[in-house]
Amino acid sequence: MKSLRILIVLVLCGLLTAAKTSAQTLVLHHANGSTTNVKLTEQTSITLSGGNIVVDNVTYAASDISHISYKPNALHVDINGDGAVDVGDIMAIINIMGGGSQTAAYTVCPNANHPHMIDLGLPSGTLWACCNVGANAPEDYGEYYAWGETQTKDTYSWDTYQYGKTGANLVNIGSDIAATDYDAATANWGTLWCMPSSDQCNELVDNCLSVWTTQNGVYGRKFTGTNGGTLFLPAAGFRLRGDLSRVGSYGNYWTSTLCERPQTSSMELGFDSEGEYTLPIYRCNGLSVRPVRQN
Ligand SMILES: [Zn+2]
Repeated sequence: MKSLRILIVLVLCGLLTAAKTSAQTLVLHHANGSTTNVKLTEQTSITLSGGNIVVDNVTYAASDISHISYKPNALHVDINGDGAVDVGDIMAIINIMGGGSQTAAYTVCPNANHPHMIDLGLPSGTLWACCNVGANAPEDYGEYYAWGETQTKDTYSWDTYQYGKTGANLVNIGSDIAATDYDAATANWGTLWCMPSSDQCNELVDNCLSVWTTQNGVYGRKFTGTNGGTLFLPAAGFRLRGDLSRVGSYGNYWTSTLCERPQTSSMELGFDSEGEYTLPIYRCNGLSVRPVRQN
């Protein structure tokens, strides 16, 4: 939730800075039909507190607000990245504040306001994030995590692994850690996101055409769905002990799924220039995490 709140503050700062002091009015529509007009100025403060929206020190229960609209002049920031500055941008903010659907899904990452949800036309409806946890762009490698750990570290080995050593003292943190306290996507990006399961990774591979290519000079695989949507996964390699291995030639992405046997391993989505595979890999290795939208 922390990163979500930071995102909201950044979005609102950008919005209010861009809006300057021209007459922008947010209209809060209450459940009983009444409305509250909020004049937006550079001094307007909008924050979240628990389930409440706090505007200039006045608290509104989110459950009491049926919807929010605005009066022109038009806002000057394309929040949802659809190429237009309109009421959709306000709704995008409100959806973020309410913890609802963050923004629309896209068939290709539309702008630098990551992360976006990418729709590849997958049968399950799974939406994939446009970039890795810790990345600032789709081709950025981002951060690396041991399975079940939510913070990065200098050395990735059984000695430093939080949930047990090889074959001994293995801690059971579940057979599917998606959206749990052990999920690096949820922990770092908030409850809208989680790690993909092994099934979701297989679905991606089975339903998309994938090619080995470069994006902005970075090697990786580009997946194209039946709807024309595209997703780029950089060949970010993986971390073993203090080293970063196979960068530019392999991609190693965690699934949320524990390997049935041996449970010292969990399933990864791996790929190279030849193709993709889901395979067990030791949980103590540092792998990339590409989140999916939580159902
Ligand atoms: Zn994006």
